[in-house]
Amino acid sequence: MKITGSVREAREQVKKWKKEGLSVGLVPTMGFLHEGHKSLIVRAAAENDRVVVSDFVNPIQFGANEDLSTYPRDIEQDKRLCEEAGADLIFHPEPKEMYAADFSTYVETKAVSGGLCGKTRPTHFRGVCTVVCKLFHIADFDRAYFGQKDAQQLAVIRRMARDLNMDIEIVGCPIIREKDGLAKSSRNTYLDEEERKAAVVLSKAVFRGEEMMKNGERKAAVITEEMRRVIEAEPLARIDYVELVDAGSIEPVELAEGRVLAAVAVYIGRTRLIDNFIFETQGGEL
Ligand code: AMP
Repeated sequence: MKITGSVREAREQVKKWKKEGLSVGLVPTMGFLHEGHKSLIVRAAAENDRVVVSDFVNPIQFGANEDLSTYPRDIEQDKRLCEEAGADLIFHPEPKEMYAADFSTYVETKAVSGGLCGKTRPTHFRGVCTVVCKLFHIADFDRAYFGQKDAQQLAVIRRMARDLNMDIEIVGCPIIREKDGLAKSSRNTYLDEEERKAAVVLSKAVFRGEEMMKNGERKAAVITEEMRRVIEAEPLARIDYVELVDAGSIEPVELAEGRVLAAVAVYIGRTRLIDNFIFETQGGEL
């Protein structure tokens, strides 16, 4: 496995592989990798001849008062996990390699970005789309892998790729959880012991909502009210949102029909965590 911080080197390596007729998958990450990221890399390795993991804390997807400077980083641990999972190249650029001092071009999906996390993080998805678009332009990847953990992000990337005719397959992968249900996240490391215990309310609420839908409840208001009740029972939790939306458009729905996303964002102390589930009344992909 190789590691490079250079756009030119990453591009040359992928070009070489493509010339040899090999397929190449991309797993975009912000590093501090855990089992959730690993599941994406393992899947990419199973479905492609070569796998590139980008490991880059993307400054432009953080708001002014967010955790850019404190976001956890551990490239040595990331190398070990990537190697184990079957990656062939880690792309680990410095911010200045990705963003020239006079960088001024952004990509934005208007519709899908406005709700849910877009309300509290108005420039977040513009930053995500821009960096993912840049990664897609660095080399000719066949597939790119994203977790359903960030379901709105996945919907935004799918919309961007469709709208801008990007010749790449977007693959959605299931949420990997801790034993007690908490979705794995690099941000879980911010939690102290008490907060870590409290954080289980996100998955509790999500599982409760899912159970209600499986039992036939279709009214969004009834489902979200019950999910809120589960979260509000935890004194350390403060709700940002609990919503049922269409999984593709991220528009609010009144009834759980077709493919719906039940999504929550909750502050546990000062840490903002998200979780979700997708419920389908007909079959379909993630
Ligand atoms: P991040 O490093 O947080 O930007 O995440 C990089 C990719 O890993 C994104 O596509 C995430 O959705 C995905 N990911 C993060 N946590 C999980 C998880 N617990 N299960 C599945 N995918 C995840």
